[in-house]
Amino acid sequence: MDLPLIVAVDDDPALLAAVERELRTRYALDYRICTQGSTTQARTTLDELAAAGEEVALVLAGEELDGAPGTEFLGEVGRLFPHAERALLIGWNHLGDPDTGDAIFKAIARGRIDHYVVRPAPPPDEQFHQAISTFLLAWAEARRRAPHTIDVIGETWSGRAFELREVLGRCAMPHRFCLAESDEGRALLADVGEPRLPLLVMPTGGVMEDPTDADIARFAGAPIDPSGERYDLVIVGCGPAGLSAGVYGASEGLRTVVIDSGSIGGQATSSSSIRNYLGFPRGVTGADLARRAYQQAWVFGARFAFMQQVTDLTREDDDLVVGIHTGGVVRARAVVLATGASYRRLGIEPLEALHGAGVFYGAAASEAPLVSGEDVYIVGGANSAGQAAIHLAHYAKRVTLVVRAATLEAGMSHYLVRQVEEAPNIEVRTGTEVVDGGGDGWLDHLVLRSRRDGGLETVGAYALFLMIGAMPHTEWLPATIERDPAGFVVTGSELSDGALAALGRRPMALETSVPGVLAAGDVRHGSVKRVASAVGEGSIAIQFVHRLLAV
Ligand SMILES: Cc1cc2nc3c(=O)[nH]c(=O)nc-3n(C[C@H](O)[C@H](O)[C@H](O)COP(=O)(O)OP(=O)(O)OC[C@H]3O[C@@H](n4cnc5c(N)ncnc54)[C@H](O)[C@@H]3O)c2cc1C
Repeated sequence: MDLPLIVAVDDDPALLAAVERELRTRYALDYRICTQGSTTQARTTLDELAAAGEEVALVLAGEELDGAPGTEFLGEVGRLFPHAERALLIGWNHLGDPDTGDAIFKAIARGRIDHYVVRPAPPPDEQFHQAISTFLLAWAEARRRAPHTIDVIGETWSGRAFELREVLGRCAMPHRFCLAESDEGRALLADVGEPRLPLLVMPTGGVMEDPTDADIARFAGAPIDPSGERYDLVIVGCGPAGLSAGVYGASEGLRTVVIDSGSIGGQATSSSSIRNYLGFPRGVTGADLARRAYQQAWVFGARFAFMQQVTDLTREDDDLVVGIHTGGVVRARAVVLATGASYRRLGIEPLEALHGAGVFYGAAASEAPLVSGEDVYIVGGANSAGQAAIHLAHYAKRVTLVVRAATLEAGMSHYLVRQVEEAPNIEVRTGTEVVDGGGDGWLDHLVLRSRRDGGLETVGAYALFLMIGAMPHTEWLPATIERDPAGFVVTGSELSDGALAALGRRPMALETSVPGVLAAGDVRHGSVKRVASAVGEGSIAIQFVHRLLAV
C-alpha cells in the first residue's frame, strides 16, 4: 500500500519551505510529503488524490491563503478526506491574540479544522513535532491504525463481540472490529485455522479465542488479586477521581490499592475529546488521559486490581474491610469511594435488542468511524451528549441531538452549547424523546415524540447514542453510608443531623457518614460531574486520609 500523505499549503514560499523542511526531515520515511504554494494548486492536487483513492493523514494550512482565511480551505478538505486531520498554522506572535483564539474556536466548532499549531521555529523545534505527532496519532486511531491495535473478529456486531469491544474500550486498548466473513476478517483468520469466535488478534501476533473479561484485563495490565492484604488506603473505582487519589496517595507514601470492576478511566474512556481539562489546549481523549494517569500512579507505587467488583464494606476494630465479588477481602485504615455513575438504560425493548448493533450507550469515541456519511441520533442534554454530537459530526452526514428539556442550556456547559449551535450538520430537537425504533440486525429507524403536542414521527437512523442521565454505583454500599434519594453519597456538612450526631465531631469535607470512608467524584452528592472536579476531589481526599491516619 502507498504511504499516506501529509499535505502543507501556504502562499508564502519562505514559510512553506520551513514547514516542508520540518516535515521531510522527520516524517518522510512513513508519509509522503506534498507541499502546495496556492489554494488553486492544492485543490487540483487534492481532487486528483481523492480520485486516485489515496489516503491523506494530515493537511496543514496557513492562516491567510490567497487573501482568504486558511480555515475556509481546510473546511473544503474535510469533504474530500473526511478522516484527514486538519490543522491551521499560526504565527507565534498570534498566540494569545483574542481574535485568533476566537477564529480557531469557531473553526473547530464548525468542523472546519481539528487543531492549530504554531509555525516551526528554526530546528530543532520539538514542540512543533510533538503537535504534529499528536495529530498523526489522532488520524491513526480514527483509522484504527494506532500502535498496538487489537483486531476483534466476530460473527455479528452484537453479542459477545460487542461486549469484548466494550471491555477493550474500558481498558483503554485501541482495537478495531471486523466481521469474520468480510475480506479483512477472512485474511486475519487465514493463519488461525478454525478458532472459537469472537477472536482477538493481539499486536504481538498472538490470539485469544473467546476470552473472558479477566483474560483481557490480565493482558491489559496484570491485575492482582488483592485478597487478604492490608493497605493504608483502598480506592474503589479507577475513573478520574480514583486515579487521582491513586497518584496522590501513592506519591505521598500511602500503601495504596485501586480496585475497579472494569479497568482504567471510568466514564472518561468513552469521551472522544475532553477539551476543558486544564493543560490540554488541543483537547485530550479520555482514554489517553486515563492511560497517562494510570502509568503515573503505577510508577509512584500504587497497586491496581482490575475486573474486581467491590460488593461490601464493613468495619472490624480499626480496619475497614472491603469485600470483593470473588469472596476475598482487603483491609485498610481508609477507603475512598470513587465509583462514579453510569448511563440510565432507555428501557425500550426493540432498541435494547439492538445494543451494539446501531444502539450504543456512550461509546461515541470508538464507534464514531462506523457512522461516516450516515444519519445519527444522540439522546441526552448534558455535556457528554454535546461532546458526542461534536465528535460524531466530523464523521456523520447529520447528527440530531434529541433533548427532552425545552432548551440546551438547561444541562450543557455554555462552551459546548456554542459549539453545537455553530456546527452546520448538527440539528437540535428540544422537547422531544425517542419512544420506539427497530431494524433487522442493525438499527434503521426511530420513532420520536414531541413532548409539546404528543405528535409521533418515524425517522431513518443508522445509529443511536444514548446519554440519558447518571445513576450512581452505590447499590452495594451498607445502609450506614448515607445517600440522597437518587443514591449519591452524602458527605461533609450536608450529612443529616442524625449522621452528624453519630459521628460526634465535625466531618471533613469529603467524609461520609462512616468515619474513615471518603467519597470523591461523580458518586458524591452535589459533585460537579466533570473530569477536573473528579481529579480535584481525588487529590483533596488524600489530604483528609492523612488526617485520619494521624489520629
Ligand atoms: C461520553 C462522555 C463525555 C464526557 N465529557 C466530559 C468533558 O468533556 N469534560 C468533563 O469535564 N467531563 C466529561 N465527562 C464527565 C466525566 O467523564 C466524569 O465526570 C468523570 O469521569 C467522573 O469521574 P469519577 O472517577 O468520579 O467516576 P467514573 O468515571 O464514573 O469512574 C468510576 C469507576 O468506578 C468503577 N466502579 C463502579 N462501581 C464499582 C464497584 N462496585 N467495584 C469496583 N469498581 C467500581 C467503574 O467501573 C468506573 O471505572 C464525560 C462523560 C462521558 C460519559
